[in-house]
Amino acid sequence: MGKNFVVCDNRFKDILLDGSELEKLVSPAIWAEGPVWLPGADAVLFSDVKGNRIFRWSERDGLTLFRNPANYNNGNALDRQGRLVSCEHGRRCVSRTEKDGSITVLADKYDGKRLNSPNDLVVKSDGGIWFTDPPYGIIGDQEGYKSESQVIGCWVYRLDPESGELSIATTDVQRPNGLAFSPDESILYVADMSLVDFPTLGRRRITAYEVVEGKRLANARKLADITPGIPDGFRVDREGRIFTSSDDGIQVLAPDGTLLGKILVPERVSNCTFGGKNEDVLYITATTSLYRIRLTARGVQYTHLL
Ligand code: MG
Repeated sequence: MGKNFVVCDNRFKDILLDGSELEKLVSPAIWAEGPVWLPGADAVLFSDVKGNRIFRWSERDGLTLFRNPANYNNGNALDRQGRLVSCEHGRRCVSRTEKDGSITVLADKYDGKRLNSPNDLVVKSDGGIWFTDPPYGIIGDQEGYKSESQVIGCWVYRLDPESGELSIATTDVQRPNGLAFSPDESILYVADMSLVDFPTLGRRRITAYEVVEGKRLANARKLADITPGIPDGFRVDREGRIFTSSDDGIQVLAPDGTLLGKILVPERVSNCTFGGKNEDVLYITATTSLYRIRLTARGVQYTHLL
């Protein structure tokens, strides 16, 4: 077992291959976030939120600029048709990049009020786009444009891309950030990092919600408090394990929240995504860099596109 791992539970060893080793790929960003795998291109896109650009990395082409400037883009995902859907701090919206390269704003207001700054998003198998709306793109000019909040809170929303209807999935959060479904989509996990803004009452928590009628969240249950640091983005694998960001690396949780172990990363981790032909390579964005590690664990995000 390499020095890059901390085993807290023997089940952690199940996710490691003999040769599993953390590899730093490139370090071009001020704050790297929002990794998404492009199955057709064998490439990863990731945002440099503070650098206001999106990078692309592939084994074949190395590092290239995908979008510059990028409206202070943050989280990225693919929809059911393989189109890029993104959270933009700059325009305070969720947008979709069409096959011809044009960009469509899908949602930027709720009840006539501008969203705060959509942060991260996930697409359900019915096409619904679920996203979080904390204020980090409007509290200063570092990763967006300083501005007042118009909506009364920082919620999790669901967007129906067919009808364009935007609905609140839950208000049971203060500073929602990363989010991901369980493999059967009966649970949505949501990170709440409100500890950063509210040191006394804030959370560093991943909460599990029941998905009701495919549209709303109910029956909140604490999955785990993440320490050191806070949970930002995270992903779920086919066994329902959670791979979450934290200050010391990627922490791997069992579906019941038990900490199985850690993949230590030398920079503060913001997010991760499974990629590669078998969805068995975890791509990790951490401060300035993109890392990867091959595992036995496999992701659930791109199965329908592979
Ligand atoms: Mg985030």
